[in-house]
Amino acid sequence: MLEIKDLSVHYGRAIALASINLEIKSGEFIAVIGPNGSGKSTLLRAISGLVELERGTVHYNDELLVETTNSRYKKMGRNKTLLPHEIVKRGVVHCPERRRLFPKLTLKENLMLGAYLFKDEVEENERRFQDVLELFPALKDRLHEEAGNFSGGQQQMIAIARSLMGRPKILMLDEPSLGLAPIIRSDIVDRIKEIAKQGTTILLIEQDARLALSVADRAYLLEDGVVASEGLCSEMIENDYIHETYLGFS
Ligand code: ADP
Ligand code: MG
Repeated sequence: MLEIKDLSVHYGRAIALASINLEIKSGEFIAVIGPNGSGKSTLLRAISGLVELERGTVHYNDELLVETTNSRYKKMGRNKTLLPHEIVKRGVVHCPERRRLFPKLTLKENLMLGAYLFKDEVEENERRFQDVLELFPALKDRLHEEAGNFSGGQQQMIAIARSLMGRPKILMLDEPSLGLAPIIRSDIVDRIKEIAKQGTTILLIEQDARLALSVADRAYLLEDGVVASEGLCSEMIENDYIHETYLGFS
């Protein structure tokens, strides 16, 4: 479904990602773990067309989404990157780090903005809106409150709900548990599991390796911009290096 080949991203002279290969099949739940600064958010930004690639390609259902615009390759006529909204329209939806809600807009307005690419499809949006509220019933009674008034955990739920209004086929979540209390984290993870169960492919970025490996099918470990390890979560959990470095002693 999503295929990333030889992907490199530089910020100036700093190398954020170096030759990443990653593949996600339809219906999979994939986690990308790794310490702060390892390139996790950059990976999502690259897939969403929000950063320039130094090298590499991103394909989605065999269609080229993003390719390097590096001048060396441009000369070869290889410069076909789609615009970010064109990528979203295909169902590749990115729920960004730190939520990025519009704090002065109401909860409902924030959710409806998630559907702006489909804004003429009023009935379908309303149907989806009701479905999303079924998934996050706690939001139902506060639709007309400003999003900025909600707690961190609730704002994260609003951000995920807004992404769902964008009709994801693959939902990419950047650290949805960041800064939240453990009980709220597990609540959010349960919601994500439910979204996966309903058929959406999930790419979950997560610093909390224990959490990520407990919910995903497969995982990739990023360290300093390279894939240091990959495999089934059940295998990753057993891996001595991952265990000692990321899962502590318990
Ligand atoms: P993660 O999400 O894993 O914490 P990031 O993808 O945000 O990592 O960052 C990877 C590396 O790229 C880090 O060293 C970070 O400092 C650097 N970086 C991220 N964004 C920028 C930027 N806009 N300009 C320059 N360097 C950046
Ligand atoms: Mg990040």
